[in-house]
Amino acid sequence: MATTEPLIGIPCRRDRSGNYRLKPILAQAPAYIPAVVQAGGVPFLIPLDLPETGLRQLYGLADGLLLAGGGDVDPARYGAGPHPTLGDVQPERDALEITLTRWAAAEGKPLLAICRGIQVVSVALGGTLWQDIPSQLPKAVLHRKGKPGENPPDFLAHPVRLTPTSRLVDILQAGVVLTNSLHHQAVRTVAEPLTVAGYSADGIIEAVEIPGHPFFVGVQWHPELLVGDMESARRLFRAFVSACREG
Ligand code: MN
Repeated sequence: MATTEPLIGIPCRRDRSGNYRLKPILAQAPAYIPAVVQAGGVPFLIPLDLPETGLRQLYGLADGLLLAGGGDVDPARYGAGPHPTLGDVQPERDALEITLTRWAAAEGKPLLAICRGIQVVSVALGGTLWQDIPSQLPKAVLHRKGKPGENPPDFLAHPVRLTPTSRLVDILQAGVVLTNSLHHQAVRTVAEPLTVAGYSADGIIEAVEIPGHPFFVGVQWHPELLVGDMESARRLFRAFVSACREG
């Protein structure tokens, strides 16, 4: 009898860079795939431009959802005007991921949110963002490491201190984790039922979760780029896929 591993749905982004400027494609960064696979899950990509009924059908198929990194959330989503540094905004991706987030939060579907993902889940549930750390919080540590030609994307940029009572402490089996850092935006405020699960030393929110949810975790770093070297990164994906299996 064939075994059935948990299906993990990962929404795409629209890539209109370089050769795709005139003919954008739907895409996703490849590192999420082996990170899910090594934890025992089977990933599939969710396209943009779905009607809500179709999105709901794919949501039902998924045992869990992974929100990946990417561009900036439209600040209108949290009642702010555009900052001069605002990057690539994709309103259709915001809409799709915000819908998935609200369903997963309300219905107990496991969700892991990475980098842009932690910002999406915060906004989806009523929180706000810092639009640009370097200009709005000039005393913050450097969170945008790994510029092309400088550091590799798995460069360990800064530690994150986890909230002692958080689920994440149990999952990662550590109170402090070293993280890579590839973001210029960050979560500014969180709204219920989301709680902060970790901060960097400058007070930036780096992890969130929903207490009591089967698995609802957001991290500002990129654990999918660390699974080769860091046991704590593998633990995060294993805990996520295990929750998807039990759901
Ligand atoms: Mn950071």
